[in-house]
Amino acid sequence: MYQHLLNLFFPKSCAGCHSFLLTDELVICTQCRHEIPLTNHHKIEQNEVIQKFYGRITLEFGASLFYFHKKGIVQEMMHKLKYKGHQEIGTTVGHWYAKELKNLEQIKNIDYIIPVPLHKKRLRERGYNQVEGFGKALSKNLNIPYEDHVLHRKLHTKTQTNKDLLGRIDVIDSVFEASFSENHHGKHFLLIDDVITTGSTLESCSRALLKIPDVKISIVCMAMSHQ
Ligand SMILES: [Zn+2]
Repeated sequence: MYQHLLNLFFPKSCAGCHSFLLTDELVICTQCRHEIPLTNHHKIEQNEVIQKFYGRITLEFGASLFYFHKKGIVQEMMHKLKYKGHQEIGTTVGHWYAKELKNLEQIKNIDYIIPVPLHKKRLRERGYNQVEGFGKALSKNLNIPYEDHVLHRKLHTKTQTNKDLLGRIDVIDSVFEASFSENHHGKHFLLIDDVITTGSTLESCSRALLKIPDVKISIVCMAMSHQ
């Protein structure tokens, strides 16, 4: 009732199209929910996420919930999540994806959910890691611990520019590092991020995690860029 009155005086707007939300609509309106481009990756064995990392990282499982198109609903949502403080978007997407992933065999042996970390300076500026709401909602619904202390970002990625190819690979490998104990040996990590574009961030995160003996890597993202 209170929420209803609140919405009456301060209607919330859809994160995809700016139209006002009805009381029972969460984050995006019913029309956007129908129009949002779903990948159905979790139903496809050799899907585009797995293919993206061919020859780079061997994944146990990989999937993205949405396709990301320029000027589309998903771009609007990701922008609001990342730059406008709308952390509830990540949480809602996490609950949504958890429902799809819950009964998959590949999900059942995952030990930890690990977010792609922000640099400390960026974290201070923004106040939150945009992947956290997504990761914690997955964690809660899939019953897998959320662990944001294993992976760290050491340098600003800006230092990658203007290097030759070999130099650049060195820098990418040194951007992330894993702090681990024997408890992390042999574990299966689910790396999560907001949007996959080239995959280079996730690749370097995976390389850092693969320094832990006998680990397995899976990747789940909210969206994947698509032409
Ligand atoms: Zn909408």
